[in-house]
Amino acid sequence: MNKEKLNELTIGEAARALRLPDGSQARVTVRELWDACIEAAKAKNPELNAYLEIFDADEAAIADAQKRINEEGDKAPLLCGIPLAIKDNILIEGHIASAASRMLENYRATYDATVIEKLRVAGALFIGRTNMDEFAMGSSTEHSAFVKTRNPHDPARVPGGSSGGSAAAVAAHMAIAALGTDTGGSIRQPAALTGLVGLKPTYGEVSRSGAIAMGSSLDQIGPLAKTAEDAKIIFDTIRGVDPLDSTTIPDGLYPVQKVGLKLRIGVPRALLGDNVTADVRAAFDATLERLVQAGHTLVDIELPTSAHSLAAYYVIMPAEVSTNLARLDGIRYGHAVRGATLLDDYLLSRTEGFGEETRRRILLGTFVLSSGYIDAYYRKAHAARDVLRHEYNEAFKKVDVIAFPTTLSPAFKFGEKSDPISMYLEDIFTVTANLTGMPALSTPMGTVEREGKQLPIGIHFTAPHQAEETLFTIASLVEHSA
Ligand code: GLN
Repeated sequence: MNKEKLNELTIGEAARALRLPDGSQARVTVRELWDACIEAAKAKNPELNAYLEIFDADEAAIADAQKRINEEGDKAPLLCGIPLAIKDNILIEGHIASAASRMLENYRATYDATVIEKLRVAGALFIGRTNMDEFAMGSSTEHSAFVKTRNPHDPARVPGGSSGGSAAAVAAHMAIAALGTDTGGSIRQPAALTGLVGLKPTYGEVSRSGAIAMGSSLDQIGPLAKTAEDAKIIFDTIRGVDPLDSTTIPDGLYPVQKVGLKLRIGVPRALLGDNVTADVRAAFDATLERLVQAGHTLVDIELPTSAHSLAAYYVIMPAEVSTNLARLDGIRYGHAVRGATLLDDYLLSRTEGFGEETRRRILLGTFVLSSGYIDAYYRKAHAARDVLRHEYNEAFKKVDVIAFPTTLSPAFKFGEKSDPISMYLEDIFTVTANLTGMPALSTPMGTVEREGKQLPIGIHFTAPHQAEETLFTIASLVEHSA
């Protein structure tokens, strides 16, 4: 095996290369795999800024993973010895977790997030913490307080966001796979813009304990990976009920219908409208056509309330943001500046600690929750959320998955969406899954050309609650039909 390219392996390939069933010398050692990733990370980070920090090698963890593979062979978890990148809003004990904000610039985690603990138990290794939009608010990673991450497919363009650092790290082979968080699309949209598979699990499938909260009723942690197989390996490892997160759900809480060998794919054509760029639309239609050739069926569906998803999301999400970030006031937690009065302490700490987009959302959230407006905005948005969930549940009586393009267009240039509304439009197809709590995944559907560069785009599938398996199935169908 070419040792130079070990960092380009998938989890599945690396796991197979690391172990031999008969216990004889494997082709690759954990150390070699780690070195290949860390070298790529160090070489490329000055240009791409995928990582806010690259960690020193954890020698004990590397040695343990190797020992375990030698002793357990095929029985060792697939993630044993696999180097992963972790978004900077997921706590790793002893490391800084800043959520890419000045507010938490010096905050060092005192415990592991549940997902990190589960990955450690599986023997995974952590390469570093990745850049993101501050507190996960954004679709481009331009709102980080520290650096801008570049898209490995064209460094003049954004990698998407808010998990843009994780996406760039995997797409540029600076890690084998990564964790991101998704409140309205932050795993799926960057996955689409960098050519990866990204999964937002069912709300409650993955513990949020130790994830820095953005919108608590929307947030989920999930994988960014090179293949559907890899996304599934990570999801299977991090999921499950957690006593530290009372919103986690047991297996089988939702009755999952068995899907046949031939899938019924719902396509809400009316919603696609004129918004989707022509070449993205053509790639979407071609991808669906290949699925039809393979014997799957397309079903026209209508999801009229989805037209209001973005509006509902941009009321509910800031409301929850304003609540979650209230504790970061320079007195209880976070960046602290002392002024002449107590009020000055608050004002100075929060003004210096938070970036512009974060402040905008805190203001929006405080407004929609204030008496006099809460009925008109917040409660209305909740009513819309209930209708959406109902509409999707009805649609899933007729189809196994619902398909969209993940984004309207490929990766955009830095500064191109400086108007907040145009940036918010990036989320038009992704936010609904967070509002309904349903699992959703983006997988690559080829590339489109912009200024001589081939830029990846993604196809997005939503499935009923706890039907992640259906998403992995359709993602591998798309992967192998390309
Ligand atoms: N882009 C969306 C937003 O800005 C989604 C963020 C996210 O999923 N964390 O809110």
